[in-house]
Amino acid sequence: MCYAIPGRVKEILEKTVLVDYFGEERKAHNEIDGLTVGDYIYAQGGYVIEKIPAPEAEEILAVWKETFFELQEVDLRLSRLDLETKGIGAETVRILDRAMEGKPPAKEELLQLLRSEDPTHLDLVFKTANFLRQKYLKNACCVHGILEISNHCKQGCHYCGISLHHKALPRYRMTQEEILAAVQEAVKRYGFKALVLQSGEDPGHSVEELEEIIRTIGREFPALIFISFGEIGIDNLKRLYDAGARGFLMRFETSNPELYAKLHPGQTLATRLEHLRKAYEMGYLIITGGLVGLPGQTLEDIVNDIYLARELHAEMFSFGPFLPSPGTPLAGFKPVNESEMLKVIAGARLVEPTEARVLITTAFETLSKEARRKGLLAGGNSVMLNVTPRQYREKYALYPDRAGKSELIQTQIDETIALLGSLGRSPTDLGAK
Ligand code: SF4
Repeated sequence: MCYAIPGRVKEILEKTVLVDYFGEERKAHNEIDGLTVGDYIYAQGGYVIEKIPAPEAEEILAVWKETFFELQEVDLRLSRLDLETKGIGAETVRILDRAMEGKPPAKEELLQLLRSEDPTHLDLVFKTANFLRQKYLKNACCVHGILEISNHCKQGCHYCGISLHHKALPRYRMTQEEILAAVQEAVKRYGFKALVLQSGEDPGHSVEELEEIIRTIGREFPALIFISFGEIGIDNLKRLYDAGARGFLMRFETSNPELYAKLHPGQTLATRLEHLRKAYEMGYLIITGGLVGLPGQTLEDIVNDIYLARELHAEMFSFGPFLPSPGTPLAGFKPVNESEMLKVIAGARLVEPTEARVLITTAFETLSKEARRKGLLAGGNSVMLNVTPRQYREKYALYPDRAGKSELIQTQIDETIALLGSLGRSPTDLGAK
């Protein structure tokens, strides 16, 4: 099973190629020399990552062809929207109506939509978000892998289970050989086409070592590589981009500067945002977002977070629930509830209906067994599977009882494919329109 469908190059215009997927066309940026019209490729996140031989591609496409259209039909049926407005306020209907015409709500309007606790109202908001996801992005659902290469971190973020605060946590740092072996397994054995390499802010992996790892991956294991090593400095971001990384995952956590300062001793929101802005200017695909339900956070803050993620050109919105973690200063606070998380997923989709991936985070899956299904039906279209070797996974203890912390990669894949199939989603990334 692959996590991208082969596409056929239809047109080439300098570094941009037009790719055909069963009659649907997408654009992708190409950095592969010698690509010609008629070639088959895999693309991820709008990048061509690999050229594949025609017989291999045609065999895969033959298997996919029927399934592809069947899944689309199921998705279309499940996302059909009957604007049943009984019991819904006229203003809500007006805002959602406009959203369905591709006019995202203004901040005040989104606040009004998300303030409600009425299940009928919220159901309509979630269904509208799902309708928009289907209308603009069809049934593709990104399935990225995440590899946690070290749980060392020099920072003391108050909510984080791998921060300096958690003194009792056993620490690990994967060697270069272990990292490359895990990438090889994820790409070659399990077919992942996009991988996030993640760690705490760990000076124990030097930038030279990270460059070498990324270069080796680029040469040997074709995949779109996202880096998520925290605030590594603008120069180092550039070095890793030049080495071949094309995505940058870093949440700003909260757009409220005072709250940010309280939770992140010695760090500033401005520095974090500068990393995200510069990374975008360098050409990185940006995954960003915030924590939902932090002590002291208001709904206004959360709505501001959604708009900030859009302003930062998030190609993937990543919002996770605050989950109290033992050994941290926020250990005694309550987690946020499922409904608040669904509101944020739907809010992100309403604000960015046409392009963005909206991730159902592992933290949300930890909070709720139904997170994936409900999140995918509230505007979400992306999931991540954990490909960290199991002996390390448990130690990447951002919060307790993390979903997927002990499942085999194959089990995670099987469960994901089954769920996506039941919702009519293809585990693919068809790239940008
Ligand atoms: S949130 Fe990130 S930077 Fe902060 S302590 Fe955790 S791993 Fe380190």
